[in-house]
Amino acid sequence: MNIDLHTHSNCSDGTLTPAQLMARAAAAGVDVVALTDHDTVAGLEQANQSAVGLGLRLVPGVEISASWRAQSIHVLGLWIDPASPQLREELQTQGERRRERMRKICERLTKAGLPGAELLAAVQAQPGLPTRAHLANAMVCGGHVGRADEAFRKYLGAGKSANVAAEWPVLEVVVGWIRAAGGVAALAHPARYSLSAGGRRQLLTDFTATGGGALEVVSGGNGAQHVEAVAAMAVKHGLMGSVGSDFHDPQLTWNPLGRSLKLPDYVTPVWRSYLE
Ligand code: AMP
Ligand code: MN
Ligand code: MN
Ligand code: MN
Repeated sequence: MNIDLHTHSNCSDGTLTPAQLMARAAAAGVDVVALTDHDTVAGLEQANQSAVGLGLRLVPGVEISASWRAQSIHVLGLWIDPASPQLREELQTQGERRRERMRKICERLTKAGLPGAELLAAVQAQPGLPTRAHLANAMVCGGHVGRADEAFRKYLGAGKSANVAAEWPVLEVVVGWIRAAGGVAALAHPARYSLSAGGRRQLLTDFTATGGGALEVVSGGNGAQHVEAVAAMAVKHGLMGSVGSDFHDPQLTWNPLGRSLKLPDYVTPVWRSYLE
């Protein structure tokens, strides 16, 4: 079975509509796909309608931004109930945090000599709940940087002039939202945080203690050696394993939908109790 439990649509910073994303997943031979937009479930209804017609199983998901020891951490909520009133309310607030942060980032860009108000308008003109990826895209379109990663390197990344620390709720709170909405919390791309080995162990210990259920063992573009290392961490902490491409855009070829996402067989799959 071909399973991909981490993808984005243009309801956040992906480029495809939820319907286009489902069509592409089906064409790529994916059987089960989770739509996990950043801090929003707005795409799930459209995705579900398309998935049904395509014979694809859609896992209702979300990728929620959280904080842990001054780091931004991404927690996937899988098999959540998107209609949960509490979850909807909390995500509404997350959306407000994102919009507020984007305004602050653009003010910083103005101070750095860029047309911040114009860039903010260009972000708002794009579909989806705003992320720094929208802003990087606007900066490329405006000719201020050559490529999106340059926007992060020069302005938006950690320690740069327009980096605004996001005030995300703490990890424990976010895991609680996911569980209250009937979902399982999976820590996304554990290798992407700038942590020492000891810091990562502590993160996993805290995540497990607060009710986290799974670790994203296979994350788009990661090599086999890396997969084995993360799989060992999952087993050590008693976490199930998840797999996801983190697909955003067909033009980014390093994380195609659903390809080479095999979970090592000594890790309990997060989907075990959901898929027969
Ligand atoms: P945010 O959640 O608003 O902080 O935005 C983070 C998003 O920006 C991520 O989900 C990625 O899609 C994108 N991103 C982060 N770092 C980079 C980078 N160096 N180059 C291109 N895109 C990036
Ligand atoms: Mn993203
Ligand atoms: Mn992420
Ligand atoms: Mn993601």
